[in-house]
Amino acid sequence: MEIEFLGAAGIVTGSCHMLTINNKKYLIDCGMFQGRKEITKKNFEPFAFDPRKIQAVILSHPHIDHSGLIPKMCKEGFRGTVYCTRAAKDLCRIMLEDSADVQERETIYDNKRLKREGLPLREPLYKKKDAQMCMNLFRAVDYNKKIRVAPGLDVVFRDAGHILGSAILELFLTEKNKKRKVVFSGDLGNPGSLIVKNPTLVKEADCVLMESTYGSRIHEDFKERKTILLNIIKDSYRKGGVLMIPSFAVERAQEIIYVLNEFVEKGLMPKMDVYVDSPLATKATEVFLRHPECYDAETKALIDSGDNPFEFPRLKYVISVRDSKKLNEIKEPFIIIAGSGMCNGGRIKHHLKNHLHEKNSTVLFVGYQAEGTLGRRIRDGAKKVKIYGQWYDVKVNLESIGGFSGHADKNFLLKWIKNFKDEPQVYIVHGEPRESSALAEEIKKFNKNVHIAKLRQIVSIS
Ligand SMILES: [Zn+2]
Ligand SMILES: [Zn+2]
Repeated sequence: MEIEFLGAAGIVTGSCHMLTINNKKYLIDCGMFQGRKEITKKNFEPFAFDPRKIQAVILSHPHIDHSGLIPKMCKEGFRGTVYCTRAAKDLCRIMLEDSADVQERETIYDNKRLKREGLPLREPLYKKKDAQMCMNLFRAVDYNKKIRVAPGLDVVFRDAGHILGSAILELFLTEKNKKRKVVFSGDLGNPGSLIVKNPTLVKEADCVLMESTYGSRIHEDFKERKTILLNIIKDSYRKGGVLMIPSFAVERAQEIIYVLNEFVEKGLMPKMDVYVDSPLATKATEVFLRHPECYDAETKALIDSGDNPFEFPRLKYVISVRDSKKLNEIKEPFIIIAGSGMCNGGRIKHHLKNHLHEKNSTVLFVGYQAEGTLGRRIRDGAKKVKIYGQWYDVKVNLESIGGFSGHADKNFLLKWIKNFKDEPQVYIVHGEPRESSALAEEIKKFNKNVHIAKLRQIVSIS
């Protein structure tokens, strides 16, 4: 019984941990590395394992940094089963296809340059057909039910409160006569997050793998997030510019729409059109409507009362590129919600190009900005940024609200880990080194058995 950390060790992205039990190998997540070039090039390196020898992937949630290399695995011969929740499967279908689309487009872009420079052309990491094919391997399961993956390996998916369909994994292992329990936190959301249920507190484990995205930080504005958002909207309306909200297409976008719907219902919203300029966010919203089993009580009640929180009069979902380009001609103040959340892709880059130089426009960050991303550079105050090979002055107003983060803060992470009895072995994953060490230091105060996971480190579950 051992686990090897193959990603999200020392960094946030590339979540992948290989479990070996009864001489068989399983993956917990198989995510893509995202961010700087030195990080993303890892996606093109050969896997540390033979994909044909992996029995199954147990997937915590559909975010690309957790699921994004499954099509590559499939392309290289993986024929096992991918276990995840029902909503996660529906989201994976659209997110993996979108990821393939991004890969294919980036390859076309890169190959133009390579051709100019007389260098050999490259292949995309995977194509749409690989993403579609791998969906045949997915098996959707219910929350809170024990699922047999193999003799000696059972799993229970528990609410993680992070995005629709996200899960904490409880893994029940039996090898010879030894029984052990491993808990993988996945990405933990905030208690009180919108739409989805709260993260589950787990009591028992011999070994815990836990995320540390916000290992040192506290979301001070969690309770006031709606008021702060409303004030930023009103401010932006007064300034007369565009309010650009780079947002993950899944969960964050729906949460923002959910809150805007509330403002509209209460008559608080200034007269502004709201454009969701993301085909992926539009498709994801449809998936949200199909999975009421994931809703918290408030969202359930709202929908039962007849109010669809993802629709209101001035809200428009933009699908075509032509309609997206038309947004550039609008003269009145308006709001754009577009992906990607960290500005390293998607239509938000085009809107940033067009508006970053405007003193009356605003960029509002509502999510995590990883090191090396365009979003991080803008948020950190760069005066000029490069987008698609050209430099642009940054004169817009910058705002951020931590309270919409999909990740629990230090306080909740500590509460979650403190809830385990008998001091389990703890391995910290999914964090930048500063965040992981800060969290480890705090945990050490009540559990000495805490370690920061290192890439390619193999640990045995005792
Ligand atoms: Zn996530
Ligand atoms: Zn993650």
